[in-house]
Amino acid sequence: MIRQLNEIKDETLQKINKAENISQLEDIRVSVLGKKGNLTNILRSMNTLSAEERPVIGAAANTVKESIEMSIADKKEEILNSAMQAKLDKEYIDITLPGKKVEIGSLHPISKTAIELVEIFASIGFSVAEGPEIDFTKYNFDYLNTPVNHPARALTDTFYINEDVLLRTQTSPVQIRTMLSNKPPIKVISPGKVYRCDEIDATHSPLFNQMEGIIVDKDITMSDLKGTLEFFAKQLFGPQTKTKFRHHQFYFTEPGAEMDATCPKCKGLGCRVCGNTGWIEILGCGMLHPNIMEICGISHLEYSGYAFGMGIDRITMIKYGLEDLRLVYENDIRFIQQFIGR
Ligand SMILES: [Zn+2]
Repeated sequence: MIRQLNEIKDETLQKINKAENISQLEDIRVSVLGKKGNLTNILRSMNTLSAEERPVIGAAANTVKESIEMSIADKKEEILNSAMQAKLDKEYIDITLPGKKVEIGSLHPISKTAIELVEIFASIGFSVAEGPEIDFTKYNFDYLNTPVNHPARALTDTFYINEDVLLRTQTSPVQIRTMLSNKPPIKVISPGKVYRCDEIDATHSPLFNQMEGIIVDKDITMSDLKGTLEFFAKQLFGPQTKTKFRHHQFYFTEPGAEMDATCPKCKGLGCRVCGNTGWIEILGCGMLHPNIMEICGISHLEYSGYAFGMGIDRITMIKYGLEDLRLVYENDIRFIQQFIGR
């Protein structure tokens, strides 16, 4: 029986030595030490032995068992270590290689312009008011003194959801909402997206960005309007910028005007951008129409105010010398990247 034990030991140690992975090792363990393992069988048959033989064989069997167990544990550790080493070798990181370049994004030119416009007006006390892009027809047209037969109301020019609800065609509804829910003094700007049924071309898009502003207070005059907007133009295009106001009729102002600024590209000398006139139209403005103030519950005898509005996209095109509006909406990364840091 001792011989049999030694055979089991030698044979098993050889197998353990050749094992290549943990599962092979486990199979070996079960075949020798498991419930039906050959060493277990020998230990079970011990009760057939004589009282003298039993302790001798028992001791020998335990020595064999221990040596197999130790040998399995050693081999297991060896296999795990070499697996870990193989993994480390495979996933070796060369810390001297240059790192992956992290691409730094940039604000879209329209966002840059919008932020700049807001900052200029915020610096002289305007706060930002926001409103829904889907709004009531009354806020977009009726309360703004727009005649019922005005072409802007036509189905061909405006995206209607139904008769009473539409995609706002201007940010003016925000001003109406502000006047309806606040008492003067009011001093807000309202940047945001607006929608019109325009075909896309070099200067039109069905979605574009506007920013309007409004002041309502006591004793507001046309000279306040001119002073504020002149300050704005100089902040935007530089201190040498000159402005001029031309009369223009809007249905929500009285009187109304358009403001031109000296072309920032040629500084007023005349170039392709300004059509050789030296001037570029920047915005529309005017004193608030008394009708609108009354509609919003503000007495035009007690208060006065002015409003102005400009296209953020248009200002962006002027500021960066762009000739085609489509460039800013195509989201071509090569175009957008040119504005990093500008
Ligand atoms: Zn010019």
